[in-house]
Amino acid sequence: MFNKLYKSKYYPLVFQFFTLIVFILLTFGAIGTTTNDANFAKQLRNTNLSNLIVWSYWWPLIILTAIFFGRHWCSLCPVELISGITSRFGLKIKFPKYFKSGWIITIFYAFISIVAIHTFGINRVPRLMAFYLLSLMGLAILISFIFEKRAFCSYFCPVGKLLGLYSLLAPFGLRVKNQDICKTCKTKECISKKNNKRLIGRSCQSNLYPAKITDNRDCILCTQCVKACPNNNIRIQYIKKPFQSFDLNKLSLPEVGMISILIGFVSYEILTSWEFSESILLSLPNWLFGLFSFKNVPPKLFEAIILFLILPIIFLLSTAGLAKIIEGKSLSFYLKRIAGYLLPVIALGHAFKALLKMTSRIPYWQYALDKPKGLYYANKILTGEITISNFSWIELAVVLLGMLGLIISVVFSMKKLKHDTGLLKPNKIIFGLVVTLYYSLLLFGPISNNF
Ligand code: SF4
Ligand code: SF4
Repeated sequence: MFNKLYKSKYYPLVFQFFTLIVFILLTFGAIGTTTNDANFAKQLRNTNLSNLIVWSYWWPLIILTAIFFGRHWCSLCPVELISGITSRFGLKIKFPKYFKSGWIITIFYAFISIVAIHTFGINRVPRLMAFYLLSLMGLAILISFIFEKRAFCSYFCPVGKLLGLYSLLAPFGLRVKNQDICKTCKTKECISKKNNKRLIGRSCQSNLYPAKITDNRDCILCTQCVKACPNNNIRIQYIKKPFQSFDLNKLSLPEVGMISILIGFVSYEILTSWEFSESILLSLPNWLFGLFSFKNVPPKLFEAIILFLILPIIFLLSTAGLAKIIEGKSLSFYLKRIAGYLLPVIALGHAFKALLKMTSRIPYWQYALDKPKGLYYANKILTGEITISNFSWIELAVVLLGMLGLIISVVFSMKKLKHDTGLLKPNKIIFGLVVTLYYSLLLFGPISNNF
């Protein structure tokens, strides 16, 4: 049924126009609403309708769909639509080879999580969120105007890369049905230059050759090649054991860098959901901040640098370094492996937080729908005139589901680790312990709730 939809000339265009309208409405709903008060912002993020939708439902749903269904969000993304239109009229310069490594995306992601989200709170202040969305669209237009093909999606968009990594777990992906047909295919319409400008049935603008796709990281599921192929040889299909069959050597170092930031980011997201685990997590950055008495560094920036950058890098490097001492292969070999084995736990941890967010924000809908700007009710909640009561049974169900997801993720990693022929037994034990350690860290959040 879905493959019929993917062959349709209206897919994904119609959906992209719809998401573009939603994108514009959400941006305008957030544009004029702001505050400098951090406590007020904590309420405003949930009472402003745009902010509530973007950060507590839209973004969490994108994460969840990537893990279970692959990069379908990318095919519906309004930024891809606009950048695709812009690139038709742009300069079409080839993207420089030395910038294709992937480090731009990792650095951009580090900047967004450390500076934009953690330090400036673009997820809490609606006006900053609008500025962020508009900046992202503006950058996409600029890049697409200068460079050929889908340069923004391929070399700049951190959301796409994040979803690409998580979709390594998804049991669906775009593949060719029969490799032999591709071998004898003369015209290769799916990558033919003459189809570059077609509106429907374009050749791949992500520089992929469908016959060579073996994992979900880079294909944005735009389905243009599905429409272009005259032999009806491409489809989105069920993939048996996607993570088990993925070769971890294929991870690039920039992707390892991205996973490293995610290690810190996801632990922060989970552990700060409960007071006790939050106080334990923040004790180290707070102590270091006091110790060095930084005057010109914002405390939140310092906190994010320690938690999202320095600690995860130390964590990965020390594990890979120890494995290298034991077995002697290159450091990058072990970095890719340990980052890969941690990926399912990170992804399921992120999914856990996404579910927590979506359910804990249900009580805010009535206020956000009544006064979408959110200032009135944020004030009422802050002054105690309105109290927000959570559904404890839903929260309990989500916590149990999240913990189950984390257990399954560890089983995934352990199964793959067991069959890893590239590692000696002592290193398998070390990597198994490291994955268990990270899993236990995430689990400490909900368990500490009883302390
Ligand atoms: S995917 Fe289709 S168009 Fe592309 S090489 Fe294979 S048969 Fe030819
Ligand atoms: S391989 Fe096909 S579906 Fe994937 S990005 Fe390229 S054209 Fe789109």
